[in-house]
Amino acid sequence: MNKRKPRGPVPSLIGGTNGRPKRVPVQRQSECSRCHMPFSTGETCIAIPKLGGAYSTAKRVCDECFQRILEKTAKDLGEIRQI
Ligand SMILES: [Zn+2]
Repeated sequence: MNKRKPRGPVPSLIGGTNGRPKRVPVQRQSECSRCHMPFSTGETCIAIPKLGGAYSTAKRVCDECFQRILEKTAKDLGEIRQI
């Protein structure tokens, strides 16, 4: 039997249609959902949509926290590669 070619776009463990982080402008007084550093209007922050949730429920994190999340993601990916 021939190996069947997968159909559709290749899924990503961290991307996909939901959950992809995006840099967004700060629109109203809010704070980083991790370190609670207040954002001020005119700055940008990173919005991480909750899987399956509406865009408005996205978590907003500051650049510093996002870097940590990226590092953790890279570490996790490194471990996944060992499977
Ligand atoms: Zn933060």
